[in-house]
Amino acid sequence: MTDTATAAAAIIDGKAFAQGLREKVAVAAADFEAKAGRKAGLAVVLVGEDPASQVYVRSKGKMTVACGMNSFEHKLPADASEAELLAVVQALNADPAVDGILVQLPLPAHMNEQTVIAAIDPDKDVDGFHVINVGRLATGLPGFVPCTPLGCLMLLKDKLGSLSGLDAVVIGRSNIVGKPMAQLLTAESCTVTLAHSRTRDLPDVVRRADIVVAAVGRPEMVRGEWIKPGATVIDVGINRVEGAEGEKARLVGDVDFASASAVAGAITPVPGGVGPMTIAVLLRNAIVAAHRNAGIAFDDASL
Ligand code: NAD
Repeated sequence: MTDTATAAAAIIDGKAFAQGLREKVAVAAADFEAKAGRKAGLAVVLVGEDPASQVYVRSKGKMTVACGMNSFEHKLPADASEAELLAVVQALNADPAVDGILVQLPLPAHMNEQTVIAAIDPDKDVDGFHVINVGRLATGLPGFVPCTPLGCLMLLKDKLGSLSGLDAVVIGRSNIVGKPMAQLLTAESCTVTLAHSRTRDLPDVVRRADIVVAAVGRPEMVRGEWIKPGATVIDVGINRVEGAEGEKARLVGDVDFASASAVAGAITPVPGGVGPMTIAVLLRNAIVAAHRNAGIAFDDASL
């Protein structure tokens, strides 16, 4: 087809990429066990009974074990005190069998998330939320990078190879997705615009981009008319929208897939794009942490 405006975008299959990454993690985990004489270990702490968090924690645990690592789950009741949670974190910091610690967010309102994240040993902070790791990312030091944006970067590099010199627009400036995504793309020598709710003329800003990463939390906000023909579109959004009467609720991204996929060169679907990458990258970060903590050489770039 010669008319780009009607050409269908290539679909970026995050589900398949994530499966391949988990398989590589499993090989690295077996190698670690042979060298260290113990399995790598990932601890997940869940406070309260939020149903979505329970689902995430369960699937993280299952996939950790499937990759040949130990999974340690700690559950606290919703009315646990912050001091009790901090005591659990301190015990995990001190436990040599634990290489990575993840405290499932959001925490109950009576707890301060920043205080809890600050209590995690930065070298076990596989979510990359500790200010030490935020600073390491900003200054180009080795540390831990938040899983979702690192997963987006992996998909982009897999699709495009070098990103050097490309114009990238990241929509959304959250600490867990937008800001680290902008840092990662800057480190790859993209020219990065970090757009957000106060950005003027967002469609015009997006139209300049070779790479669009949408992390807004607004169903199907980014339209095909905003996309430069041939651009690569990474849709981080996971939004549940109720179906019309008699129809089931469905998951949609922050990008209007139907119109955007007619213009873009490549695009991630929702579901099956960025979503499956997050846990796979968490497992990747955990095996990197295990090698670092045990003082065993490992090429982080191999995963
Ligand atoms: P957030 O609510 O913390 O941040 C949203 C950002 O979007 C804000 O910085 C805000 O400035 C910006 N924004 C809001 N309205 C806007 C508008 N009209 N125009 C431009 N910018 C606007 O959200 P988050 O945690 O970064 O998550 C974003 C989306 O990604 C959500 O849909 C979330 O469910 C999804 N998400 C998916 C994964 C995954 O795939 N595993 C992980 C994290 C988040």
